[in-house]
Amino acid sequence: MADVLLQDLWFHQVEGVVVESVIPDGELVVVRARTAAGQAACPACGTASARVHSRYVRRLADSSVGGRPALIELRVRRFRCSQQGCSQATFAEQVAGLTFRHGRRSAGLQTVLERVAVMLAGRAGSRLAHTLAAKVSRSTLLRLIRRLQAPETSTPRVLGVDDFALRKGHNYGTILLDIETHQPVDLLPDRTTATVARWLAEHPGVEVICRDRSTAYAEAGRLGAPDAVHVADRWHIWSNLAEAVEKTVVQHRALLREPQDTTIAAAAEALEGLDLDLAPAGPRTTGRLSDRVREQHEAVRALLGQGIAMREIGRRLGLARNTVRRYAHVASADELLVGRWTGRTSILDPYKPPRPSNGTRRRHRGVREGGRLCPGCGGLPGRCEPVPLPSGGRCARSAR
Ligand SMILES: [Zn+2]
Repeated sequence: MADVLLQDLWFHQVEGVVVESVIPDGELVVVRARTAAGQAACPACGTASARVHSRYVRRLADSSVGGRPALIELRVRRFRCSQQGCSQATFAEQVAGLTFRHGRRSAGLQTVLERVAVMLAGRAGSRLAHTLAAKVSRSTLLRLIRRLQAPETSTPRVLGVDDFALRKGHNYGTILLDIETHQPVDLLPDRTTATVARWLAEHPGVEVICRDRSTAYAEAGRLGAPDAVHVADRWHIWSNLAEAVEKTVVQHRALLREPQDTTIAAAAEALEGLDLDLAPAGPRTTGRLSDRVREQHEAVRALLGQGIAMREIGRRLGLARNTVRRYAHVASADELLVGRWTGRTSILDPYKPPRPSNGTRRRHRGVREGGRLCPGCGGLPGRCEPVPLPSGGRCARSAR
């Protein structure tokens, strides 16, 4: 009865193994077992053979029992291949679900360690494995990952393309994703047009390419999958929108109304007695982006002043070389905040308020200086009253 229970406990999914004994041995639990199948198949030709050549004991580390590492001492046989002319004269038998060629762990423990390695990788995986009483080094876990077969993937209908940093600011690769299953499909060694275009040409069937706005990926899509529709992915749309809004707000901060004094005063009055240290309210003159640009510009200029090379500055500040170069070439950070799209035509132009000519701007100056904004100036909407102009005329728009 006890033997049947042990058999079921240890090898419930394994056939052809007989447990002989289970012995606690210091820090170990040793399971002695032997193979019991009448014959084994040759790994080279597949012919079954019952001609035993020799016997020996294999030692396999197994998942721990009660916090103690388990060791399976399995008596196995070496067979002679009965197929004449087979390249494999003799072969060792393997037990499906328990052993594999040259393996020094049970198949079960190997699977557990592979999962740990995939989820946690080297160091963290090694620490967890020690806790689970299966001592493996981080290098062993990384080796296990490298030996794993890559899962079979089919060419996705909707392909996500984005870059990732192997070393930020220096080396970048490209990751390809199946947007419908959210599974990674492939990793490419760089982010050049040629590499991505070649992959697309070798994997026909992509209907939609979901990407950022880089010209390299746009061109790769046009070359490798000319029929595919290009869409901007949601993350980049939000990221670009947030940056554009922030930049626009920073540029036009002078037009923003100051908070009503009465509201501040009322709030301060309400909070009086709470002993709060309220800072005086003032117009907002900085944004996150502008702060960042100013800080980085200042740091780059300071390091340049010390005679440090741009490459080294980039390394120290974690900035791309081109970013460092941009900071180095302008005297003031404000020049960078103007925006590179200023003055360019855009598909959004028909929806923007009309930009007044210089002459109109001059004529409306009096209205703006008076504290009211005229719609003709493109500022915030306000009431435009006829005002005398230096030339003796009147505001053209309000005179209509
Ligand atoms: Zn054979």
